[in-house]
Amino acid sequence: MGFLRKLFGSKSQAPPVVPPEQPLCPHTTLVAHWEDAAAMGDDSKVSSYTCDACGQSFSRPEAEALRSSEGERLKQRLR
Ligand SMILES: [Zn+2]
Repeated sequence: MGFLRKLFGSKSQAPPVVPPEQPLCPHTTLVAHWEDAAAMGDDSKVSSYTCDACGQSFSRPEAEALRSSEGERLKQRLR
């Protein structure tokens, strides 16, 4: 089996090609923040969302857009 590794070994070492227009972070882990402590836990009163991975913050509409496109984007990453 050694010769097979030699055949394919160099190809598998190639770095993945990331298109520059694609964001590096998929922002899939959004943490909700409430300015009003009394509203905590109420999805309709969320003040902002922060991505747990990169720390970028998003407004509620932005976070909803990210969530609705999340499945599509994950599929593209798995391809
Ligand atoms: Zn992010």
